[in-house]
Amino acid sequence: MSDPTPYAVRDGIAVITMHNPPVNGLGHPLRVAITEGLRRAAADAAVKAVVIIGSAKAFSGGADISEFNTPKASTDPTLHQIIDMLDAMQKPVVAAIGGFAMGGGLELALGCHYRVAAPGTQLALPEVKLGILPGAGGTQRLPRAIGAEAALELMVSGNPVTPEKAPKGLVDEIVQGDLLELALKYAARIVAEKRPLRRLRDERATLAGDPAAFFKAARERVAKQSRGYPAPPKIVECVEAAVALPFDEGRKFERARFEELVVTSESKAMRHAFFGERAVEKIPDVPKDIPTVDVKSAAIVGAGTMGGGIAMAFANAGIPVRLLDAQQDALERGIGVIRRNYSATVEKGRLAQADMDRRMGLIQPTLSYGEIKDCDLVIEAVFEKMDLKREVFRRLDEVMKPDAILATNTSTLDVNEIAASTKRPESVVGLHFFSPANVMRLLEIVRGAKTSKSVLASAMKLARRLRKVGIVSGVCDGFIGNRMMEEYVRQAFFLVDEGAAPQDVDKALQDWGMAMGPFAMLDMAGQDIGWAVRKRRNEESKADPKARPYSGWIDRVCELGRFGQKAGAGVYKYEKGDRAPRPDPEIEKLIDDYRREIGVSPRGVPAGEIVERCIFALTNEGARILEEGIALRAVDIDMVYLTGYGFPVYRGGPMFYADTVGLDRVLAAVRGFAKGYHGECWRPAPLLEKLAAAGKTFN
Ligand code: NAD
Repeated sequence: MSDPTPYAVRDGIAVITMHNPPVNGLGHPLRVAITEGLRRAAADAAVKAVVIIGSAKAFSGGADISEFNTPKASTDPTLHQIIDMLDAMQKPVVAAIGGFAMGGGLELALGCHYRVAAPGTQLALPEVKLGILPGAGGTQRLPRAIGAEAALELMVSGNPVTPEKAPKGLVDEIVQGDLLELALKYAARIVAEKRPLRRLRDERATLAGDPAAFFKAARERVAKQSRGYPAPPKIVECVEAAVALPFDEGRKFERARFEELVVTSESKAMRHAFFGERAVEKIPDVPKDIPTVDVKSAAIVGAGTMGGGIAMAFANAGIPVRLLDAQQDALERGIGVIRRNYSATVEKGRLAQADMDRRMGLIQPTLSYGEIKDCDLVIEAVFEKMDLKREVFRRLDEVMKPDAILATNTSTLDVNEIAASTKRPESVVGLHFFSPANVMRLLEIVRGAKTSKSVLASAMKLARRLRKVGIVSGVCDGFIGNRMMEEYVRQAFFLVDEGAAPQDVDKALQDWGMAMGPFAMLDMAGQDIGWAVRKRRNEESKADPKARPYSGWIDRVCELGRFGQKAGAGVYKYEKGDRAPRPDPEIEKLIDDYRREIGVSPRGVPAGEIVERCIFALTNEGARILEEGIALRAVDIDMVYLTGYGFPVYRGGPMFYADTVGLDRVLAAVRGFAKGYHGECWRPAPLLEKLAAAGKTFN
């Protein structure tokens, strides 16, 4: 804490100002200061009421994350004890809330007798997003403040509400103007009117209708929505306790559920993901204060699928962007797609027409390099051909201003070779967006051999502005995400060779938690992309006896022109206007024929084996990527999968998941697979062997 929390008395009202920037996290020193303030106020006969306030930007963001997993987090006074003190106060305490009150911050406010808030303040109990529940009485006080139905909704979603939209009882008055002055006035009024102390613990949690029926329906609904996530069902139980039990018993019930949750691997995984988002921003050899380029304008070369999506990502962040293509018709098509995308969002009521117009206004089409030369950043997104990329970069090198960042969105080509076609390879970086680029949060930032630290740090800063998770990857074929994905789908194809139907593989992985099975995913992305990669690899591997083989049946699917959803057929078939994958007898026959030709008699493949083969293929390749230094840390790999590949957050990513299984067990499985079908693809990664032998983990 940079400053002690000030305590002052004004006209008989004590003011406790929480001061622990940036978010007033309720760390130990702040908890001590609040307790001290309450004690002084209670003991001073001249004090008639108390106001607890933070800064204009933050009442409190809840627990101090720097104390997470340290003994300080549970050192007295705890938040519980502070709220008990509030309950014991004989003078009214008013919470003056500006900015936001989240988690423990809102629980503190709920412990006060009255709450006033500035308009637009964000109020939330987001613990569910970390796999836990509000554990300082929040699950018992919130239903008493706003009723059981509304409380359940707020805590199960974890989403914020503003005082304007909040259910009655969360905030007593919305105050517009100087928050402290108005809170003082409010407190003075309470004193003058001799209003009773409103202790939520003494109130009843209301519920319209029959509690048994309500909670039965709530349990069923939440179970369906939160498949795999353990906290929401427990929140329902706690709200039920708030309705049925006296306050103190309800609180004990809440504590017990909290302690059950906090040790689950699911909640640990969710906290891993939460901290992971911050951890990946640190690049060990890049100083924090290195000068960076502030991107005020950007250009995209190539107005296709990716170029258009990337342009939208910039416009959504309020950054003007020029979209350049070689052909007028390609440019018009690109702009048309962007307009249709925005219009669809407007039609769904998720974007105002005025916002769409403003965003469209930020995207300027052009055919001329002369019009992009002054942009701070340019991202190349033309066809995936090295000669073409080199030509574009030679051109960019000629026209772009000296300190511009030159980025490529290539998925598979060598960023160093692209950089070498310029006289300024230090300005070149890979910015690997994922499709659809305006939606997907992952941005792989590919660090070339000569990429400067300043350019790298600038790219990281840009990722944040675009509201993406930027993750640094070294140069290799496929970078972090796609290189690992190749091993995952290789196994998916082999599993079908052996006897599983594509829909069995998809179902097993989806049931395990993946957002989508591999075959549905490949049909969505376009089977032609993988086909082109396999053809190239098969060519390259003629010279490499250690190259890992692919199954052949998927190439036959591609030879039929079945490139997936866009073609109306891929591994599955699709009805017009419907994206639901349907198993196709034609493909079943194709697979049967293939099995006969390669002499494999099909066997039943259990779901557990499907999951282990595919997920541990990710882990094993991830271990290689880590060892080669392509990824900085295991958490970077996990975050790639959580933000870009639909990996379930409650499993924490392929490396974290392996840690929870135990690396010795993972290694044993890998060694077992090495003795099975195409076992040559299963050489255990040396790092996996090393860590397993030492009883260590990746993370
Ligand atoms: P696309 O075929 O949809 O678009 C390419 C665009 O580049 C076309 O509009 C074309 O007219 C334009 N173009 C070609 N030559 C040009 C030139 N000399 N100057 C200006 N414009 C030119 O391709 P895409 O799917 O958007 O892929 C673009 C890049 O992004 C590729 O490198 C690809 O590997 C990469 N990428 C694609 C995906 C994906 O899922 N599609 C994901 C990540 C990265």
